Amino acid sequence: MTPPDRPVGRFDVVDLIRAKRDGGELTDEEIGWLIDAYVAGTVPDEQVSALLMAVYFRGMSPRERACLTSAIVASGEVMDLSGLSRPTVDKHSTGGVGDKVSLVLAPLLAALGAAVPQLSGRGLGHTGGTLDKLEAIPGWRSQLSTAEVLSQLESVGCVICAAGVSLAPADRKLYALRDVTATVESIPLIASSIMSKKIAEGTSALVLDVKVGSGAFMEEQGQAAELARAMVEIGRRRDMKVAALLTAMDVPLGRAVGNALEVAEAVDALEGRGPADLVEVTVALAEVMLELTGLTGDPRRALRDGSALASWRAMVRAQGGDPDAPLPVAAVVEPVRADQAGYLSRLEARPVGVAAWRLGAGRARKEDPVSARAGVLCLVKPGEPVEKGQPVLELHTDDPGRLERALQALQGAFEVTAEAPAPAPAALVLERVG
Ligand code: URA
Repeated sequence: MTPPDRPVGRFDVVDLIRAKRDGGELTDEEIGWLIDAYVAGTVPDEQVSALLMAVYFRGMSPRERACLTSAIVASGEVMDLSGLSRPTVDKHSTGGVGDKVSLVLAPLLAALGAAVPQLSGRGLGHTGGTLDKLEAIPGWRSQLSTAEVLSQLESVGCVICAAGVSLAPADRKLYALRDVTATVESIPLIASSIMSKKIAEGTSALVLDVKVGSGAFMEEQGQAAELARAMVEIGRRRDMKVAALLTAMDVPLGRAVGNALEVAEAVDALEGRGPADLVEVTVALAEVMLELTGLTGDPRRALRDGSALASWRAMVRAQGGDPDAPLPVAAVVEPVRADQAGYLSRLEARPVGVAAWRLGAGRARKEDPVSARAGVLCLVKPGEPVEKGQPVLELHTDDPGRLERALQALQGAFEVTAEAPAPAPAALVLERVG
């Protein structure tokens, strides 16, 4: 029975919530209507909150996930990249500590003939955002018009910029609600959120870097594989070529964590002298992107011969940045030293990410500013020898008052043992999905 004060629409929202609560499936029409009505403001937050919680517990079928994604895409504009002469391909990472792969990968693929339309977000929590990193470059701007994006994709082959508010607006509204209703950690909701933005961006191919481990959003490989499968399946139903790599995220990627520090390390990689782990993940993703687009080329060679670096410089310049300008440097640099000699046997990504965040590299609320200069340099990585008193980490900040809480985060974050640890697993790429 419908109480008289219940909003009247094509569907009764309470029936939809009840159906999902009891483990039923919603039809395409019901999902499409609900997302439209939510964006239009005719279905209130409290009902969508209840539905999100029902989805959290009951999940969604592959058809429901694809339909939810399409409804989110349809809430806004879709970029039309079909006029470009290069094949389009993008990458999405679920986020890791020291994950500056996008900065290297986008120009690398551009150098190999692709157009990479990387519409990115900012960091929240212990993993940094790509735009925050690039904003460390003097003059670089993240806000581009659609015409600028298209022209840069054609001339340079890559763009990393802020996603405009017109793309997938339903996702912004749903994500804000999930954030305050403990429903962020739901595979159908994460998969539809990520994929809706990539579909709206207009790319025809996508590689997903799903991070697994103690420094990642997903700590368990099985869970990460489930998320990867959900995203690959959504992409396939929309005729997007998608594959995912599950990559290890227990130790920071590379040695630099923090915005300007990470840009400097990305430039090292583009100059052919990047840390082995960063290069390994970047090249593995690049190879999948080449396969998805049908392009051929040698990513390692493009990192060595200066062609990826030339694309980087062109991308930075096209967005108002000066690739030759010195990067900002922190006012205070504090070492954290080894208290015994031996080998670094463990270095945990998450506490390093939290420390960088507390030093000023990240934000607690989305309106907070970030420091370009703050971060952590991992001077020693697991397996490397260390002397007693040698700095293992270097904390960079503008505000010495932040050091204490950063040091607290790092309590127990690394270990030095007398014996060399067993060699780390040979490969960072754990599994491919799709
Ligand atoms: N990133 C997104 O874009 N959406 C999610 O739901 C989680 C991570």
